[in-house]
Amino acid sequence: MHATGRSWGRYPVTTEKVITLSDRHAPLPTSDVPMLPLGNARSYGDSCLNDGGILLATRGLDHYMAFDPATGVLTCESGVLFSDILDLVVPQGWFLPVTPGTRFVTVGGAIANDVHGKNHHRAGSFGHHVLALELLRTDGTRMRCSPDENTEWFDATIGGLGLTGVITWATIQLRRVAGPWMSTESHRFTNLDEFFALSRESDRDYEYTVSWIDCAAKGNALGRGLFSRGNHAPASPDRRPAAPARRLAMPLTPPFSLVNPLSLRAFNQLYYHRQRKPVVHATTHYAPFFYPLDGITQWNRMYGPRGFLQYQCVVPPEASEATMAELVRTIAAGGGGSFLAVLKQFGDRPSRGLLSFPRPGATLALDFPNGGAPTFALLDRLDAIVDGVGGAVYPAKDARMSGERFRRYFPRWEAFTRFIDPGMSSSFWRRVME
Ligand SMILES: Cc1cc2nc3c(=O)[nH]c(=O)nc-3n(C[C@H](O)[C@H](O)[C@H](O)COP(=O)(O)OP(=O)(O)OC[C@H]3O[C@@H](n4cnc5c(N)ncnc54)[C@H](O)[C@@H]3O)c2cc1C
Repeated sequence: MHATGRSWGRYPVTTEKVITLSDRHAPLPTSDVPMLPLGNARSYGDSCLNDGGILLATRGLDHYMAFDPATGVLTCESGVLFSDILDLVVPQGWFLPVTPGTRFVTVGGAIANDVHGKNHHRAGSFGHHVLALELLRTDGTRMRCSPDENTEWFDATIGGLGLTGVITWATIQLRRVAGPWMSTESHRFTNLDEFFALSRESDRDYEYTVSWIDCAAKGNALGRGLFSRGNHAPASPDRRPAAPARRLAMPLTPPFSLVNPLSLRAFNQLYYHRQRKPVVHATTHYAPFFYPLDGITQWNRMYGPRGFLQYQCVVPPEASEATMAELVRTIAAGGGGSFLAVLKQFGDRPSRGLLSFPRPGATLALDFPNGGAPTFALLDRLDAIVDGVGGAVYPAKDARMSGERFRRYFPRWEAFTRFIDPGMSSSFWRRVME
């Protein structure tokens, strides 16, 4: 089947042949054109696209293979979604060890991008919790990889962008929880200094921390936002919290982006002032706490037919405060701003993967409607700032960084190339290797 490929950002648009994998014991198809495993296409840019090639869709690899409710060790095929794992394990007192901001990702996709979550300062990234995986190569080789077996292949495959072969199954260690509820706090902060102080103070006592910042604010309000922190709640909260609301849907793609400078400023203003008290305590279900955006199906359509660009960078600890201020000033001056500006401090646990993105420092993630050349020019200015202090940009969210910058952000790229399956490639990889 030929299909128009779209990642979550709906930019770029590519054409691929899609082959569905449904039997983990079967060899991979043979092909003259490059192939690439596909999870649930929740990457924003072109790392899950393969223009002119083949996408090996893994959602059909959706079987559970083993689960021990006494130890929380789960083995499943790589196309199983995090949402399905949560439905299975939370009632049995377990939770994902690390989760991104959407639960609609596959196990294989989470490993191949070595995803991180709000608990990076405690738990590191997803790869730290993978006990073993199987790698299937286009030449028919199968390799069991783990921290003690085929270790080099394990480290190349974690964060390996699907280029080392297809992960057919994985074993992961879950973390214990008493139930589905979270004890949460939301603190209003008025500038970036307050954010960094809250972050330092929270990392010790709170497993999850993240904040939203108002990227459209300027002058005295520059860097204001809401800091959210939380822990898994004990089994029976005093007051029974409300169950998560029903999901809404964005029914169609509007002919133009609903996100523009006017709507952005209005949204940011309203969102910041929505919280009247400086601090709000709540007990909530895990879904709205971890996955607020999953409440609106296909929210990515609101950016219209041209799609949008995500941008996520990390800058080293010693440069974090000054660089975040410069990035936010540059974005506010550009007039565009972003609905979804998320700021967090990563911890210092070294990532396993040769190409893993998480590293110590502060990380900022933003969405920009695709406004053509001016948007690309703004992102280049942000790159120059990040590059200048030795930071990096996240490939899972990228559709335009230069190859030169990629190679500086990921200095182990050359060591990585030794592990690439000669039958695999992606639009992202061809772009940054040009
Ligand atoms: C709303 C939203 C919030 C997000 N929040 C975060 C966040 O907080 N932290 C974060 O780290 N990311 C975040 N992301 C990005 C997302 O978590 C990653 O892009 C994730 O890898 C997507 O998983 P997927 O199953 O959709 O994989 P895809 O996007 O389909 O593929 C991702 C990569 O994995 C490879 N791959 C997929 N399956 C396999 C397999 N079986 N074997 C080998 N390689 C494979 C693909 O080739 C590709 O390179 C977010 C995305 C969205 C839409």
